[in-house]
Amino acid sequence: MSENIRIGVSACIAGEKVRWNNTDARDAYLTDTLAKYVEFVPLCPEIACGMGIPREKVRQVDCNGDVRLIGYESGDDLTEKMTNWTDRILPGLDKEDLCGFVLESRSPCCALMQGKIFSTTGNPPRRGAGFFAKLLMTHYPLLPVEASDRLQNPILRENFIRRVFVLKRWRELTAKGLKIGNLVDFHTRHKMMIRSHNLRGYRELGKLLGECSIFNADEIFDTYGTMLFRSLALKATPTKNAEILTHAMGYFKKQLDDGDAQELRTMIIAYKNGKIPLVIPLTLLNHYARKHQNPYLMQQYFLNPHPSELKLLNHV
Ligand code: SF4
Repeated sequence: MSENIRIGVSACIAGEKVRWNNTDARDAYLTDTLAKYVEFVPLCPEIACGMGIPREKVRQVDCNGDVRLIGYESGDDLTEKMTNWTDRILPGLDKEDLCGFVLESRSPCCALMQGKIFSTTGNPPRRGAGFFAKLLMTHYPLLPVEASDRLQNPILRENFIRRVFVLKRWRELTAKGLKIGNLVDFHTRHKMMIRSHNLRGYRELGKLLGECSIFNADEIFDTYGTMLFRSLALKATPTKNAEILTHAMGYFKKQLDDGDAQELRTMIIAYKNGKIPLVIPLTLLNHYARKHQNPYLMQQYFLNPHPSELKLLNHV
């Protein structure tokens, strides 16, 4: 398994000149910031399936419920070409050890959800996933996938990167063998994070682990992984994060004097109301966790979800 965090990315937003007209669509956040912390695996489905550069633009067309990939001017049907290629490469993407995928936002092949799908009946185009993106997400339903333009939104960006780091840790865990003790430890460290995304999912995961003696390890890991990444797919909002911060604060009931407790409470409310970034109450909680040597909090990934250099928690 690779030491690095590997993320698949539409090649054009990684800066490669692979678009139909031999240009790129470089995304500065990806190439100038994220690239310092992760290894990109660029992929251009149109090039890889055998279309050249320059090439005719393609579009998705809904032909009586069957979405086809059609040449813009020629009307050539390229669906089979693309499908044959995806059938070949998608199962093999497992070997790439990808922990996430960032897609170009609006292309007929790569769009996450904003690709145009034309109709044959004269109706205006509807929006949907690109041809390749849809197959990718069907094949890897738990893989964190985002569109490059959505990563401009700090909350969506932070949520995506959180999931990428959790998947990396999940892969490291399963690579050590399917040991229930290790899974319980993994769950313990992610408890607050999972709660911040999905309280119901958090409870169901706890229940699953409580019943683990009636399943075999394969079943438990399989079910846990599915439920975990489904839970994390729900956004952790400032309101949900503030609830977890308040919950974490409860661990210092006896240690904080009234002034310190009030200060922390004020910060949590200010964060919830969008006045200060999450990093401020988290820094204070980390400080108290270390100062009062609280082992449970010190190991919570909620308090340290990803490298601080990424500055993902510094926005309001
Ligand atoms: S959007 Fe996808 S298919 Fe289009 S150029 Fe970029 S990588 Fe290639």
